Amino acid sequence: DAARVVCGNGSDELIALLIHAYAGPGDEVLYSQYGFLMYPIAAKANGATPVTAPEKDYRADVDAILKRVTPRTKIVFLANPNNPTGSVLSREEVQRLADGLPRTCLFVIDAAYAEYVVSNDYSAGAELVDSRDNVVMTRTFSKIHGLAGLRLGWAYCPSNVADVLNRIRGPFN
Ligand SMILES: *Cc1c(COP(=O)(O)O)cnc(C)c1O
Repeated sequence: DAARVVCGNGSDELIALLIHAYAGPGDEVLYSQYGFLMYPIAAKANGATPVTAPEKDYRADVDAILKRVTPRTKIVFLANPNNPTGSVLSREEVQRLADGLPRTCLFVIDAAYAEYVVSNDYSAGAELVDSRDNVVMTRTFSKIHGLAGLRLGWAYCPSNVADVLNRIRGPFN
């Protein structure tokens, strides 16, 4: 559904816009211990508190993430596959994480490296976006196309989130 795809100046811009829209002072942005560096940068830039969940063997731990969800948790980020560790969670594990989160919490699946995964039990998360109203999948042309200077990322969103991103993004991004 093209109406639910929002393009950005790299997916970094979309990550920053999601945090800008949904988290601020007093709110928590939760991610895995060795998760992508953009999450704490954008959280702090918006006055939100970055919170990490410990990993096991450099791999995101679904139970550890769920344990750190509080009423203040506004967004949970999962880079799948993750950068810099290269670890990946199965479709089932990601689904379990989505199932365990309160509906008041936005779940952002950052699938910047989706095109590189060969295992059969992996999904970038589009079906989770389609079946819920609190899941977003971000993707990028940067890695698979080795874009050195061009910036093009995209987010597949529930319509309510696409509407918000389209209202707050720069009109000429
Ligand atoms: C590279 C990367 C991004 C951002 O890429 P853009 O160039 O801004 O599209 C986001 N998440 C992860 C995990 C990455 O490795």
